[in-house]
Amino acid sequence: MYLKLSELSKSFGDKKVLDNLTLDIKKGELLCLLGPSGCGKTTALKLIGGFLKEDCGNIKIDGEDMTSLEPEHRPVSTVFQSYALFPHMTVLENVIYGLKFKGYKKREAIKEGEKYLDIVDLLEHKNKKIGQLSGGQQQRVALIRSLIVKPKVLLLDEPLSNLDAKLRVKMREEIKALQKQFNITMIFVTHDQEEALSISDKIAVMNGGKLEQIGTPEEIYNRPVNSFVLDFIGNSNIIKDGNGKSIFVRPEHIKINKSSGNLKGKIISRIFMGSYLTYIVQTEQEIINVKETNVQNEFYEVNEEIYLEFSKCGSFEE
Ligand code: ATP
Repeated sequence: MYLKLSELSKSFGDKKVLDNLTLDIKKGELLCLLGPSGCGKTTALKLIGGFLKEDCGNIKIDGEDMTSLEPEHRPVSTVFQSYALFPHMTVLENVIYGLKFKGYKKREAIKEGEKYLDIVDLLEHKNKKIGQLSGGQQQRVALIRSLIVKPKVLLLDEPLSNLDAKLRVKMREEIKALQKQFNITMIFVTHDQEEALSISDKIAVMNGGKLEQIGTPEEIYNRPVNSFVLDFIGNSNIIKDGNGKSIFVRPEHIKINKSSGNLKGKIISRIFMGSYLTYIVQTEQEIINVKETNVQNEFYEVNEEIYLEFSKCGSFEE
């Protein structure tokens, strides 16, 4: 494994913020740390970057133990939510800042900086001050400033949270493309589940300082190990089967039929959402959400008696 966190724990006072966190990440993989506010995501990044010291456990990168290394000696770069760019410097000066400590001569550094600016289409802005760039452009500068020093691991702490919804989607595609281009190992912190599903090779879902589940986006979405992960990722219906088992079925995996199916119910509401319809259905025991993406289909009416057919469902014991 390229990046290995082993049984990391960290407390502030008597509050345990990370509790035995163990994670393995392969070279070139993008892992999202996903979880609610306060679950310890930023703390985990700070431990990897060396900005905080773990109480116990250890961190290895490419086989090397990081424990006793100061932040500047770790092969790690961090992109912060605030970008932490220098406002008094030009775009190019910001990008090449880290090369000073890598023994680059000024001329070589400028050449390298221009190459990286070209990769993200910002070369024409090289002499501008940071404040003259848009949010998305600043984000790109922050990214290449971290990549130019060729870290083994790039940490990104909610890097898109200052951008509007459309730009977030564009930037996450750019980040993914840069990750593939540089084959760089990344940890991306977010509490946005859609962002995590779309960008990750693996997702680690955290809760209260503990790892709940790690897997590919498909594994996490289709085979959550417990109700926390299920609830956190996407929408779902939970149906108790009477034997202590919970069956879950995603709204998009339910089809409404007129005459047969797994459960009988009655439509209590129909909501038009543009590209899909949501039906709220009352069955004998539960209220079930159904997502109908084929909006060309005939509509079912409120109060209509129907059957629900599940194309896919899962279960876990709790
Ligand atoms: P968010 O999504 O809100 O950024 P997070 O998952 O990144 O949250 P952390 O920033 O790691 O969470 O914080 C975890 C917990 O540790 C929180 O309850 C926070 O208040 C606490 N905490 C973080 N840093 C410190 C500190 N230096 N001193 C005391 N408590 C801290």
